[in-house]
Order: sequence, then structure tokens, then C-alpha cells
Amino acid sequence: MDIDFRKYVANVQDFPEPGVLFRDISPLMADGKAYAAATDKIVEYAKSRGAEMIAGPEARGFIVGCPVAYNMGIGFAPARKKGKLPRETVSVTYDLEYGQGSLYMQKDAIKPGQKVLVVDDLMATGGTLAATIKLIEKLGGIVVGTAFLIELTDLHGRDKIKGYDMFTLMQY
Ligand code: AMP
Repeated sequence: MDIDFRKYVANVQDFPEPGVLFRDISPLMADGKAYAAATDKIVEYAKSRGAEMIAGPEARGFIVGCPVAYNMGIGFAPARKKGKLPRETVSVTYDLEYGQGSLYMQKDAIKPGQKVLVVDDLMATGGTLAATIKLIEKLGGIVVGTAFLIELTDLHGRDKIKGYDMFTLMQY
């Protein structure tokens, strides 16, 4: 079935701050058929890249990545903000528009040599993606691809992560 995925994105002007056009994927999540169809597209891509593990940043990376992992019968590695993970972690600090952000992964989340696909709902500047890739590589994982429901092409996030394959379902 061919689905027009854009029908399931709500465009919210000036959220979370003035000037930002927020692309809200809640309508897609709320529609079982559309959610499953979007998941299937990423599963197809993940299989084509030989992924053995899915990784994603909180929180919408979990919403997009976990059903992919479940469908493939493989694991999911969460990248989380400070103070969320109970055991030993590795961390990466990266620049945000204002200030800095940090992401953490538990040390045994990825096995050395494991082929990992990074998944999130949306790529804007690519900063979150670049940080997640760094975490995986610190743990010895091999990033075999990256997948997003939405890519904001004007922000040129792809330039930040040259050399990594990317699949995006929608571009704005
Ligand atoms: P970035 O690190 O700039 O690529 O930002 C990506 C992260 O911020 C993703 O986890 C998105 O969920 C979120 N994000 C950034 N911009 C938007 C936007 N315009 N609409 C919805 N989510 C966004």
C-alpha cells in the first residue's frame, strides 16, 4: 500500500520557540497502519544495510527505532540525556543552537564490531545524529546506516555526517 506520509505530520509554527516550525509525528504514531508502514520502510532499509542492532536518541528515536528492532528480532540501544542511565556510560558533548548538549550510552549497549543502524524521527542540523554516531563508535560499533522519518534539507545536516549512508522517508 502506498501511503502519503506527509498527511500524518502536523506542522506547528513557533514551537518550542518563535521561528521554529515543529514537525510533529504524533498523527503518524496515532494511526496504526501509517506507523506500521513507516516502520516497514525503515526495516527494509535496515535489512539492506545488514543491521544487527538499532540505536536511537531519546525520546522520539525510541518511538521510531524500537518497532524496527522488534520487527527484525534484534536489539535496541538507547542514547539518553544526563542522569538517566543507571550503569557505567560513555558520553559525548555537542553544540546546540544555544549552549551544549550531552548524550550517554551504557558501556555494554553495543558490542565491538556490531553493525548498528541509527534511527530518529527527524534530522535538523545533524548534531544529535553526529553525537549518537560518536557514542556507538566509542563502544566499537560499526555504523552501517542512518534512518529518519523526516529530513530538514535546508539545514544541511547531511554535510555533518559525510561518509554514512542515510535513508529519509520525507524531506522538507
Ligand atoms: P538536530 O540535532 O539539530 O539534527 O536535531 C534533531 C533532534 O531535534 C531530533 O531528535 C528531533 O526530534 C528534534 N528536532 C529538531 N528540529 C525539529 C523540528 N523542526 N521539528 C521536530 N523536531 C525537531
